[in-house]
Formats: sequence, C-alpha cells, structure tokens
Amino acid sequence: MNLLSIKRRQFLASVATGAATLAISSLTKTEAASGPSRDRKSTSGIADLAFRPLPLSTITPSGWLRRQLQLQADGLTGHLDEFWPDVAQSQWFGGKAEGWERAPYWLDGVIPLAWILGDKALQEKCEGYVKKIVAGQRQDGWYAPYPVDASTRQYDLWAILLVNKVLVQYHEATGETAVLEAVMRNLKAMLQILDQTPLFGWGKFRWFEGLISVYYAYERTGETWLLDLAHKLQVQGFDYMNFYAGKDVTIPTPRRGLWRWDKHVVNTGMALKAYALSSRLTHQKNERAFGAKMLEILDRYHGQVTGMFTGDECLSGKNPVQGTELCAVVETLYSLEHLISVTGDPAFGDRLERVAFNALPATFAPDMWSHQYDQQVNQVQCTINPDHMWTTNGPDSNIYGLEPNYGCCTSNMHQGWPKFASHLWMRAGDGLAAVAYAPSSARFETHGIPVHVTVDTDYPFRETLKLTVTVDKPVRFPLLLRVPAWAQGGIIRFQGESQKRLKPGTFNRIQREWKGTVSATLIFPMKARMSQRYNGAIAIERGPLVYSLKIGESWTRVNADKPHRELPHGDFEVRPTTPWNYGLLLDETNLDKSVIFEELPVGEKPFSPEGVGIVAKVKGRRLPRWRMAHGWAAEVPPGPQDSGEFLEELTLIPYGCTNIRVTEFPRLQQ
Ligand SMILES: [Zn+2]
Repeated sequence: MNLLSIKRRQFLASVATGAATLAISSLTKTEAASGPSRDRKSTSGIADLAFRPLPLSTITPSGWLRRQLQLQADGLTGHLDEFWPDVAQSQWFGGKAEGWERAPYWLDGVIPLAWILGDKALQEKCEGYVKKIVAGQRQDGWYAPYPVDASTRQYDLWAILLVNKVLVQYHEATGETAVLEAVMRNLKAMLQILDQTPLFGWGKFRWFEGLISVYYAYERTGETWLLDLAHKLQVQGFDYMNFYAGKDVTIPTPRRGLWRWDKHVVNTGMALKAYALSSRLTHQKNERAFGAKMLEILDRYHGQVTGMFTGDECLSGKNPVQGTELCAVVETLYSLEHLISVTGDPAFGDRLERVAFNALPATFAPDMWSHQYDQQVNQVQCTINPDHMWTTNGPDSNIYGLEPNYGCCTSNMHQGWPKFASHLWMRAGDGLAAVAYAPSSARFETHGIPVHVTVDTDYPFRETLKLTVTVDKPVRFPLLLRVPAWAQGGIIRFQGESQKRLKPGTFNRIQREWKGTVSATLIFPMKARMSQRYNGAIAIERGPLVYSLKIGESWTRVNADKPHRELPHGDFEVRPTTPWNYGLLLDETNLDKSVIFEELPVGEKPFSPEGVGIVAKVKGRRLPRWRMAHGWAAEVPPGPQDSGEFLEELTLIPYGCTNIRVTEFPRLQQ
C-alpha cells in the first residue's frame, strides 16, 4: 500500500481491522500521490462522459450562493448529528439507533458542503464519521449494520449502494486510499452476495445508484470484475424503461390510494439518471436518451411549473395542491447533474436551474433549520390537517419542521445546494463548460496551465453575468457557455470586442487563445412568460424563476413537547394573514406591459420573503374562494372575505422565496 503522508498512515492505523491490510494492488502510487482527483486509470470498458464533474473544492461559491450554503452549514446540516438520534447514535457510527439510510444520507450532503465551503471544522466532523464507518468494516467486506448472518436476516442493499456513493465522494475530496479500499472490498462482497440474494425492496428500485461507486472505482483501478457487478445490478434492478412504455405511469395515484414502488416519487426522481448511467456500460442509444423521455412523460401527466412532478407520496397528477416530497427534489437535482454530465444536453441545465432556484429553496424555512416533507405549488397554509389531498402521506406533511411525516427528508435534504454548487462547472475535453449559473469560480488545468474562471452575478435575480478567465500562461482551450432556451436575444461581449449573439438552447463554444485576464459580459434577457397550467390556470415565469403571490405569514410553533424539538429545530405551522384568493388580469399579447419587474438588493437570506432580489407587479381581482378552490377544496382555509369588483395591484415574488403562496392563478377576462 502506498502511504504517502503521516495523516494517511494515522488514518489507516486507526482502521484496526485485518481487512484494512488487504492491499488493492491496482491502486497505484500515482493514484494515491495525486490525491483528490477525478483522473481515470481506465475507461475502456465504459463510455466516456460528455462533461466530467470537477473535483470537489475546485469550485468556490460566492455572492448569494455562498450565503445560502453558509445558512445551510449554520442550520440543520451542520448540526443534525448533535441531537437527532438516527444520525447521532446511528449503527453506522457504532450506536444503537437506525442502521440503514439516515446517517449515510446526511453524510451525502454534509461532505460536499464541508468541502465546497472549505469549512475545516465541518470537514473534521465528516472525517470522524467516515473513519467510524471504515473502522466498522468486517473481514468479509460488509459494514457494521449489515447482519453477520445475512441468510437468516436479509438486509436491503439500498443503504449499501448509498454509503459507497458517500465514501467515493469522500475519497474524491480527500484522496484517502483506505476509503477507496474499503469500497472495493465491499463491492467484491456485493458481487458475491447478489448471486445468492438478488436485489429486493429499495435496492431493486435504486439499483443504478450502485453504478456511481462502481464506475468511480473502475476508473481508478481498471478492475474488470467491477463491470460484471455493474451489469448484475442492472439485470436485477427494476425495469423503468418497460414501466414507462405502459399507461400505468400516466395515471395519478388516487387519494388514499395504494403506495407503490414503481410510482414512488423519490424512486422516480432518482431513476431519471438510471439509463444514462447504464448506457455507459451498454452503449445503447435508447438508454442514453431515456432520461429526456421520462421527463417528458412526467411533465405531461404529473408536471409542476417548478420543473418538478408531484408525488405525495406516489405520482399524483398535475393539480397544484398535490405534494412534492423534498427527497424527490434533491434526488431530481442530482439526477439532472448526471444527465448533463453523460449527455451534454443543455436542456438538463435549464431544468437543473429551474428546480434548484424554485422547488429546492421553497421547501425550507429561510434559515434552513426546518423543512417540509411535501411542498405544494399552491400552498395557502401549512397546518396539521387530516383532510389534505395527499395520496398516502400524513396530516403534517407540509408543515415546516424537524421530521414532518417521516425522517427521510430530514437526513436526505442536505445534498441539494452543495451538489448543485459543485456541478456548476464541468470539464469538457481540454476545456470547461458552464452548465448552470450562480456566483462562483472554478479552477482547472489544461495543457499543464492553471486556469481560473469566475462568474460575478446576482443571476437568477438579474440577467447580467460578468465572466473572467485568468491564465498563468497563454493557452488555447474551449469555453462552453450554456445558453438557456428561454434566453432569446442573449449576447456576449468580450472587453474591447464587439458583441456576439448567442443561440438559445445550445452550448456556445468559445475557442480561443486565452492570455492574462480576459473578461466578458454575458446577458440573458429575461422576458415575462405566461404558462398554461392545470384546469385552465396560469403561472408567471421569467428567466429560470417562477413567480408566486406574496402572502402575509403567521408562524405558530407546534409539537413543542415532542422529543428533539428544542429551538432552533422546532416545528411550525404557517397561516396566511393577507388575502390570497386572486385571479390575474394580463394583457397576454403584451405581457411585458402587464407584468412589471422591479429589482431589489438580494438579501442576506436570498430565498426568504424579506430577502427577495426581485418582485413583479401585476393586476388582479379577488375571487370567491370556491372558485379558487375548484378541485382542491380540502386545502382552502377560512380567510378574508371576498371583496368582488375592484382590480388591485398585486406583488409576486420568486417561488423559492415564499413559504406560503399561490402560483397557478385563475385567468380573468378583460
Ligand atoms: Zn423524504
């Protein structure tokens, strides 16, 4: 084994199992010496990626994105392990509480957060927990929670697929050889066990998650048995392609209907990437194209204006009061990051921003201490209510709390922002691609020359981005800039050069020799758009943002006597204090005249009603609540009386800034 630093030697010494001395011969000196790296040893057996994610911590967030990530570190993510038993006393860490998905879920988000923020204290925390997992690995390759006698007590492999994904992420961030060796030993054990006990339960429906660590290990070791394992996972896994060829998936799950694996909303969000991943192994074009096809079907039958689909907790149609589970939001984001990496299709970048800037922040309290299980696009109150429209979820699913409905989101929510930030830029051949935009910078090397690329912006609250490229020595490489499909009339202007038009829905490739520091201004014009939604309703969008009615909020603490609800991690109901029952009157032939946008400074909490960086003014009229409530009676609270006649000026704010909202409005005639 190649122990190249004292730190690593100590790390290995602490991994006091015999198994730790099992050398993985193919982990070469160069591999260990290069430390954090996404360099590949061999890819001959799997198709290359269109874009390759950059190593963690080579992308640095700034501006509002840094503030958002810091809020997260100061909120639940940075502290969950200090009081929540299913992480604090997890069996993964030698405790007696839950020993399945919860601790690995939390690590899956806190690790990228710690490294992208460069937060040493948080990194040390992660290191301690990863050490415990590796130290708990047995001689047979299984980790501590896996039963010693699996023939009498079967263990659903989902948690194992998940933890390996976490461990390779940690390896990438730190270069700790012992961690990759632990994963290799476990994958070997998995290869054997699958013949005796094929995938079942969650593992069967999430088989593709296993491909992530398998490919990671394969690219670094070239061990071909890893591809046999990848193949086995696909063969034993649920066939989503077949399921999506049928009619069943198009039908909303009935209220109080049956819970289903195949229409489960989190499985659905995860499965978006399934065949893009497996296409690397099979080289099948139809597999590579399946993610886009699946999204099309979901949009048509279950889609929401946020770019998400409903599921509360199985796919539940297009009504804007059906719920979307937070786990599905973060998993969809992660799937989109894989989809763009495998295919290079800019449409996935558009979708990634749409979900990240709308559905993701909306489902957290602005301080990121509490979250919802289900968010609704039209959500005029968040209360414990047995009459919700949910298919199978419980009465408290849309309150802001520690673990409303069920604790999966409490542990899985953490990956959303950090993974979005770490996938803003990706490697494209010898160049770099901007796949999504937010204030950030990226470092990479091409032809041996270090390159630093920065984007200064308040996008998505503004339409202008300032791009700066700095190179140590002159070097030629392509810079690929995603031009969103909505950005008609977009331009780029390099300093001292004339402006160039950008084609919407493409990657604009700038191939040039870069010298010293070069800067450019990028403008993606954001025009108001109106979209037709469920039951004749309309929604307002502009750029990647969706707009919702700003509603006065009253927060009430609930469940204070329940365990672990000490502040700041309490549970809250939210009720409206201002009218919400409006229809919109728009000049649809001249939308820019009837929706007026006004820019404000982006606040300390960028996604809060107080921190909004932009508002829209529109005209509307109050309607009888029964008309608003058509089709969603159970969601309508008692509220202000209907005033009837008069047009009022209404304020809309970005969906992601709201905690309660109306987003799909009745359409008024002139
Ligand atoms: Zn969940």
